[in-house]
Amino acid sequence: MKTFGDVHRHLIKFEIRPSVQRTAVMGYLMNHATHPTVDEIYVALNPEIPTLSKTTVYNTLNLLVEKGAVQMLTIDDKNARYDADTSKHAHFYCRCCGKVYDIFNVKAEMYRLPAMPEFKVDTVEISYYGTCKSCLGH
Ligand code: ZN
Ligand code: MN
Repeated sequence: MKTFGDVHRHLIKFEIRPSVQRTAVMGYLMNHATHPTVDEIYVALNPEIPTLSKTTVYNTLNLLVEKGAVQMLTIDDKNARYDADTSKHAHFYCRCCGKVYDIFNVKAEMYRLPAMPEFKVDTVEISYYGTCKSCLGH
């Protein structure tokens, strides 16, 4: 469980002024590695911070992504998903339950383009789709 102090330090590291809303959204993501949607974050934080609107959550997430503190995943075509873990890792989307799982053992060369000087890569998203173990009933 990340503390208020951990979240605060994380925001400062990415040069983000730690307002109440930013600390709440960043803290939620740091403590929930489930790749939540805007709605899930909003519903979870609303009881604590009733003044928080869905628009504020959305704008806060955009800022956190822009500053590099959070990554946005496009793996789920219905909802953007957010991840406080910005280290190199792939994801698996279960079409049955909609859960997004972390996949850490992807070969490093998968993230690199073959030598092509005409393209400068700034984002690589590796997404796998299928059915997860619990949906398969194993
Ligand atoms: Zn599943
Ligand atoms: Mn992840």
